[in-house]
Amino acid sequence: MKKIPLRQVRIISWTLYALAILLILLGWLLRLFWLIAAALVVIVAAIVFLAIFNRCPRCGRFLGHAGGAAFCPHCGERLDG
Ligand SMILES: [Zn+2]
Repeated sequence: MKKIPLRQVRIISWTLYALAILLILLGWLLRLFWLIAAALVVIVAAIVFLAIFNRCPRCGRFLGHAGGAAFCPHCGERLDG
């Protein structure tokens, strides 16, 4: 599978989370509940995206959903971004 740099993985995942929050707010304000359902789909997509791509470049282990760590918690590899 093609590797995506961790910095871009974080930008994409935060963009997806921001989009989901926006959809929930819009759906709530406009009483359009399918927007909230769409937001839940976006959140699931963001979680799946992170599970696939938010991995240490050296040991390949999952880095968690929070992101922003400077070092891999498993092998101590320095992470960019
Ligand atoms: Zn590692």
